[in-house]
Amino acid sequence: MRRKLAAGNWKMNGTAAALDELAALAEATREARAEVLICPPATLLSRAADRLSASHVTLGGQDCHAATSGAHTGDVSAEMLRDAGASAVILGHSERRADHGETDAEVRAKAEAATAAGLTAVICVGETLEDRENGKTLDVVRSQLDGSLPDGSTGDTVVVAYEPVWAIGTGKVPTVAQIAEVHNDLRNSLIQRFGGETANAIRLLYGGSVKASNADDIFAVAHVDGALVGGASLKAADFAPITAAL
Ligand code: PGA
Repeated sequence: MRRKLAAGNWKMNGTAAALDELAALAEATREARAEVLICPPATLLSRAADRLSASHVTLGGQDCHAATSGAHTGDVSAEMLRDAGASAVILGHSERRADHGETDAEVRAKAEAATAAGLTAVICVGETLEDRENGKTLDVVRSQLDGSLPDGSTGDTVVVAYEPVWAIGTGKVPTVAQIAEVHNDLRNSLIQRFGGETANAIRLLYGGSVKASNADDIFAVAHVDGALVGGASLKAADFAPITAAL
């Protein structure tokens, strides 16, 4: 019922030369059953859209402003991302929460702007190592989910990515039991807030050191509908096998 999603987050990586990698990814994933979404830096979006115009690969931004336009030097609006060829945007990534002090309320406002512009918001939540060691994982993730998702969210407007901060870029991956516990809890929280039908249409991704060698185990966990992948999304040869595992 929920279409699997393999989402790549290129972060602050990639110049024009990386467009060849995108073309290679489109070729290598032609048979993929899952949706393949790549979120390159904003500077590459429109060129990526031109390059991929005839392909199944969809594109997303990595952040947007909550306002539609105006005096916000350096920022990009959801409408601009859409205009550049994006159909989605990552919001509330832990690197933005840490580097830019983004709060749940800001993430929620950005998600509302994304929805208004017709973009799917891929909203990230996840505990720090300290939270986990203090037994606060579910509390932290629940409160981020509550605070960051707009009212009226649906399976078309939002995707939730569970990304433990300590697993991002570290090569450390939670056990399947730990992933299962959080994903199950996320699904239940969504059911409580939005009702079963809507909640069951919202895709839940796992993110944090996903690679081809651990993808099968992670994707076998209940309520894992795909992955948000950083490092292993930069090369088609690394990302294509992950999409094939979905
Ligand atoms: P990683 O990053 O796959 O490099 O751990 C994941 C992310 O930050 O989305």
